[in-house]
Amino acid sequence: MTVNKWLIFGLLLASMPAPAQACGPDALGVSREIAVGGAPQIGLKTYPRTLSLADHEVVLTFDDGPSPATRKVLDALAAQCAKATFFLIGRNAQAMPELVRREIAEGHTVGSHSWSHPSKSLRALDLADGIAEIERGDKAVAAASGGTASHFFRFPGFGDSPALLEAAAMRKMPVFGTDLWASDWNPMTSERELNLLMTRLRKAGRGMILLHDIHRQTADMIPSLLRTLHAEGFKLVHLVPGPDAPELRAAPDGWTSETEAFYRKMFGELARPTPRPQQSTN
Ligand SMILES: [Zn+2]
Repeated sequence: MTVNKWLIFGLLLASMPAPAQACGPDALGVSREIAVGGAPQIGLKTYPRTLSLADHEVVLTFDDGPSPATRKVLDALAAQCAKATFFLIGRNAQAMPELVRREIAEGHTVGSHSWSHPSKSLRALDLADGIAEIERGDKAVAAASGGTASHFFRFPGFGDSPALLEAAAMRKMPVFGTDLWASDWNPMTSERELNLLMTRLRKAGRGMILLHDIHRQTADMIPSLLRTLHAEGFKLVHLVPGPDAPELRAAPDGWTSETEAFYRKMFGELARPTPRPQQSTN
């Protein structure tokens, strides 16, 4: 081959997706998938029902990306053959489509998290503006992914409302709250973030976990988190789009919405969204 041919050959190799990671028993991996379709509302911080996870089963979700720190998160997940769900801000997806495509190529699930993540939350906007944020975010993520993203949706700051939930349901968008978080919007060391999250997870025993792949402290924590989950016998469940709503588990008696309590404190006049009667908890 001439030098030019070698150069072209090299460029072709570099543009190919990385080969699938060979993971043995030392890796966390994925233990099973749950297909999510329909328009359920899932996650105990906000809704009185969540995924039907067994003891020691966890789901990893990341919000607010893609961002430069996303690369490190993806590297750490790939090293453990672990899969996650990414809820992307539409304008970030539009700005960094290569990272959206990488998430998809590496087997993760991609959903949306509004177009611009308004600081006031969608419920504080005019209804038409709130719906436009949902639609534009969903379209931007779909475009950046080449049409392969899911229609999974998570409200910025969990700031939903009955009308916005209805709008999402009409568009067949499953709405995700979460069960656990690492409070990684607060600056802290990766070690402290890991300890905080694992303490909460050991107490809960299972659950959907919310992290943010815009924070370096979180990206730095992921390798240790995945190793710790594996060492402590936690199993990773991967969410994928499906035709129907999955089996859900009802919240324990005495459940209250933690995120709603926050919004009541912030904006006392906004009432708790009424749970939709057609929601199944079986
Ligand atoms: Zn967010």
